[in-house]
Amino acid sequence: MQKTVSLAVALCFLGSVAANAAQPSTIPAPKRTLIRAGHLLDVKTGKLLDAETIVVAGDTIQSIAPTAQVAAQLGDTVIDLSGLTVLPGLIDVHTHLTMNPNFDPYYELTQTSAKEAINGVVNARATLLAGITTVRNVGADGFVDVDLRDAINSGQVPGPHMQVSGPLIGITGGHCDDNLLPIQYHTVGDGVADGIPAVQHMVRQNIKYGADLIKICATGGVLSKGDDPQASQFTLEEMQAIVADAHRLGRKVAAHAHGAQGILWATEAGVDSIEHGSYINDEGIAAMKKRGTYLVPTLYLEDWMIEKGNLPPFYHQKMIDVSAVAKSNIKRAMQAGVKIAMGTDAAVYPHGLNAHELDVYVNQLGMAPLAALQTATINAADLMGWTAKTGAIEQGKWADIIAVDKNPLDDIRVLQDVKFVMKAGVVYKNESK
Ligand SMILES: [Zn+2]
Repeated sequence: MQKTVSLAVALCFLGSVAANAAQPSTIPAPKRTLIRAGHLLDVKTGKLLDAETIVVAGDTIQSIAPTAQVAAQLGDTVIDLSGLTVLPGLIDVHTHLTMNPNFDPYYELTQTSAKEAINGVVNARATLLAGITTVRNVGADGFVDVDLRDAINSGQVPGPHMQVSGPLIGITGGHCDDNLLPIQYHTVGDGVADGIPAVQHMVRQNIKYGADLIKICATGGVLSKGDDPQASQFTLEEMQAIVADAHRLGRKVAAHAHGAQGILWATEAGVDSIEHGSYINDEGIAAMKKRGTYLVPTLYLEDWMIEKGNLPPFYHQKMIDVSAVAKSNIKRAMQAGVKIAMGTDAAVYPHGLNAHELDVYVNQLGMAPLAALQTATINAADLMGWTAKTGAIEQGKWADIIAVDKNPLDDIRVLQDVKFVMKAGVVYKNESK
């Protein structure tokens, strides 16, 4: 006890010395960067303005005005994007940056936390360079995602802004457990919990070790052995306990759910988003609309899997079954006005292809291009509780800015080839010349 007190006193003392030493007579203004945008797309209205200049100071957007009105000052950096269309960085609310698309069961068993951390460093960079300046990472073993988020925030490695969930919380033998080995190996997923006290403990433990949100498995899944995507896993009561704890502690809850019953129960329990939603029915649609629950479809993965996936037999049939119904069900939910945020499940296919998801919404499901773009900007920011920080090019928000060759509202696929990426005022890619 004595030791703790002295340490605290020492820290206070050091803190005050540092504060005094650092006290400048005048605080220098953060360095300005002027982005000369040929065209600037407002993702709220779809309006395209010509020749606008975004003034970035430090990590923040300071102002936006017609280029003719913004002269460069001494010391400003000027970035010429006069040939491009500029818009806010995209947001993907369903990634697994620490994982790679390899479904050989033996490969899965060889993944250590160290390997997953290395995957995370590589994949965070690939994702950022693809124009995804923010992700919500919904599931990683060993809290590797917490360390990745912190390494990105400290500037150690490049990557998007991240909210992370830590281990997925699910039932014994469920989608979020490790079911590949027989009982003599005693493998259990990091987030397995059964019954109300156990799920409460797991929520609190995930928060203790750094989770920004809670991810649960409400139903079975596709890429897991021995479970049924349509079968509910957590009970309604378990999910109510999870949501009550998470919300009380200031965390949102994302629920993996394919089956109709699990979608409905998770929604009634008060989760903030339903991930996948493959078998959503009218009852689920009505409940989600009533509560304002977001649906996070992950549809491009089905196209990629059918063309390029190499799944073991115990995953393959489930992928065929889910793919056969998911798009038409999701389309009905979209048309009924359920709120949508873009998620991809990147890791199930290579990281960096995230914007292909929007192509599916527009060119396969008939969503308006502006609405599709909003799923990856303002809607996604709303779901993450980050509307004040990102999702639009507005004064006071992070300078998360990308640019493409033409207006994505004319061709959403242009987002698959991003030419310029700035995150929090730092340029990571500039192919404008
Ligand atoms: Zn996922």
